[in-house]
Amino acid sequence: MASQNRPAALVTGASRGIGRGIAVELARLGWRVGVNYASNEAAAQETVKLLADAGGEGRAVKGDVANGADRAKMVAFMQEAFGRFDALVNNAGVAPKVRADVLETPEESYDYVMDTNLKGPYFLTQAAAKAMIAQRSAGTIERGYIVNVGSISAYTASVNRGEYCLSKAGMGMLTALFAARLAAEGVLVYEVRPGITETDMTGPVKAKYDKLIADGVTPIRRWGQPEDIGKAVAAIVRGDLPFSTGQVIDVDGGFHLRIL
Ligand code: NAP
Repeated sequence: MASQNRPAALVTGASRGIGRGIAVELARLGWRVGVNYASNEAAAQETVKLLADAGGEGRAVKGDVANGADRAKMVAFMQEAFGRFDALVNNAGVAPKVRADVLETPEESYDYVMDTNLKGPYFLTQAAAKAMIAQRSAGTIERGYIVNVGSISAYTASVNRGEYCLSKAGMGMLTALFAARLAAEGVLVYEVRPGITETDMTGPVKAKYDKLIADGVTPIRRWGQPEDIGKAVAAIVRGDLPFSTGQVIDVDGGFHLRIL
């Protein structure tokens, strides 16, 4: 396929961790990727290089998902850089800077986490969906995809990071709302729900999780890797789930199972 006809995705927070893993798997499909990052330009450029090595193409785009002007810039970037916008992957997310008991959550930490993890994806989805609907009317794309990166924290109470759990529980409804609204528009919406995954985010609690995994907290006894989540997203956007929307896909080594 000629380069300018290849589909294009915006992956938020693609400079590192899970977002980078998703971007690489999309590149393996030959997709072009808007590599969003917040501040770490060197890491974003490293992702761009990995995408070229994987057979795709990446273009870095700086922007804070919590900021409305930056969100508008990112959506416009997809049109300018690639001439089309087939998929949005709402991956960027933050943990609280300091883990605090729910009786002590600072209000600024609540706002920081909720603005990044929930408000940002909500309004970015809104803007991306409008762009996708317009492109479908114009015949530029056949189908649009929104993929939200949730978490096992959507249903697992960690009392030392309540604001993070709330943001991920909210992501579940965000997925349902936009799936219901956008099905008739030809835009399918999914959530991938990672479990314990080896990235910078989990670096500070690595020893704790090493022990939990060794003790069997996940039926598949290993850390999740960014490429595990990337492969799930790739299956979605290459169209392998065409009669599903609003679907949550657990990518968690079986953590969600109740076992007696
Ligand atoms: P990470 O290693 O800390 O990477 C975070 C990424 O998000 C970086 O690319 C960062 O950009 C970007 N980012 C942070 N704030 C942003 C903002 N305001 N606007 C745009 N980009 C922003 O995190 P991760 O572990 O890969 O997590 C990715 C997603 O998976 C998050 O939504 C997280 O909640 C979810 N998740 C993670 C795990 C896990 O165990 N790791 C489990 C379940 C779900 P810079 O490089 O510029 O800082």
